[in-house]
Amino acid sequence: MKKLAEVLKDWEAVIGLEVHTELTTLDTKMFCNCKLSHDDPPNTNVCPVCLGMPGALPVPNRKAIQYIVMAGLATNCQIQRRSMFYRKHYFYPDMAKNFQTTQGPVAICMHGHLDLAVSGEGASERPAWETLAGDGETPIEREKDGSYVAPIRILRIHMEEDAAKMVHVGGEEGRITAATESLIDYNRCGTPLIELVTEPDLRTPEEARLFMEKLQQTFKTLGISDCSLESGSMRCDGNVSLRRRGETKLGTKTEMKNINSFKSLHDALEYEICRQAEVLEEGGIVYQETRHWEPSRHRTVVMRVKETADDYRLFPDPDLAPFDLTDDFIEEARAKIPELPDAKRDRYVADFGLKRADAAQLAGDPSTAETFEKSVALAPDKAAKTVAKVMVNLVPAYKALAPAQIASISALLDEDAITFSQAKDVLEAVDGTDRDPAAVVDERGMRQVSDTGALEPIVDEVLARCTDQVQQYHDGNKKVVGYLVGQCMKASKGTGNPKLFNKLLRQKLEA
Ligand SMILES: [Zn+2]
Repeated sequence: MKKLAEVLKDWEAVIGLEVHTELTTLDTKMFCNCKLSHDDPPNTNVCPVCLGMPGALPVPNRKAIQYIVMAGLATNCQIQRRSMFYRKHYFYPDMAKNFQTTQGPVAICMHGHLDLAVSGEGASERPAWETLAGDGETPIEREKDGSYVAPIRILRIHMEEDAAKMVHVGGEEGRITAATESLIDYNRCGTPLIELVTEPDLRTPEEARLFMEKLQQTFKTLGISDCSLESGSMRCDGNVSLRRRGETKLGTKTEMKNINSFKSLHDALEYEICRQAEVLEEGGIVYQETRHWEPSRHRTVVMRVKETADDYRLFPDPDLAPFDLTDDFIEEARAKIPELPDAKRDRYVADFGLKRADAAQLAGDPSTAETFEKSVALAPDKAAKTVAKVMVNLVPAYKALAPAQIASISALLDEDAITFSQAKDVLEAVDGTDRDPAAVVDERGMRQVSDTGALEPIVDEVLARCTDQVQQYHDGNKKVVGYLVGQCMKASKGTGNPKLFNKLLRQKLEA
């Protein structure tokens, strides 16, 4: 198969996502009072409603409706005052009612959008000469480094319920094929679920990955779900079709299932784009089908030929009255929305002078952002940039650090008392304890000598000894200072401050 970059020269990939998110932070299920917990013994959180017993009547979860309204407002959707629940019929043991309660043509949230900042290596997946966003109208402007912002439209977010969890025993990778038996846990059945459907505005696997990441950050910040791809509380299907460059008609799409990481989403789409290109270039036909991503074999395989909407016999649920959301209800939801990652990122750039990429990384995850802000509050003034540097580069390796420890190590770095690599050792020592990094630095005698008077004799000695390098410097090789700093560090047995050595060396060499 051809590589992605080569395929995208001739073909345009048209990608859309369907993202299911369980509202895991709620206490109860969507239409009954059963406890929402997947950790309890199987089939213990069940009742006549979620088991679909005849005559049992559903009652919608008010807070779940509030959460989906928050999700819609945070993704710039129009909140529909009136919408309804529908029945989507199918026969499978994971839904005892034989239909899933979902929404029809009008969802609670319609027509939103998110802007994606695509940068770094991922930005090069989209050919540089392509100038229009996925909507085919909005121009995309490239920065000098190739980064760009892609607006992605959201068609809708609707409310529905999750099905039971099935475990296939004995099959390969937990699949039903070749399984000897299947087990069902109805605890998950009836879990409030929101499904977000994008317009087909994504053009590269990287854009799809970034969209998913941004959505996860947004929903996590709202506090409506734990958004775990691994455990399946957030699930993503990717649709992709190809068309020749310049063509406006959409090609036949396939749908990718079993995507449980950001990397899988990227790799599955990349594989599928290359596979479809090969089929089409050989004169073959792409069939509308659902395909299963096999990460271990790095390929997609056919699961089933796609059903059409008609097969589901979708009709309004007679047991559930239409919704009329009031302005008060919507405003109440709006008031519950905290500062979202984009706004937080911009604030970090404005208030602390952080690099945009660092600010985005810190603002993306609510608990990381909280730790960062607490650490900045405890650190000396002006140390915010150092705190950010520590958080981005060191903290991910040492997860159990308290804000006070991060503030302390940042202060030490800020006053050049220790080097970055020493900071690493210190953090490793205090990680998961309540020890103060400053105490460890003193205990180990790590504190660097930043006293010019004490370092000058060392600099003089090194300059007198390294006559070759001094000559090289005067011949124009300024980089040789690095070598001389190393000699000074060695002579001081690592106790001297390298920045100060550098400064003194340059002063003396230029004198
Ligand atoms: Zn129930």
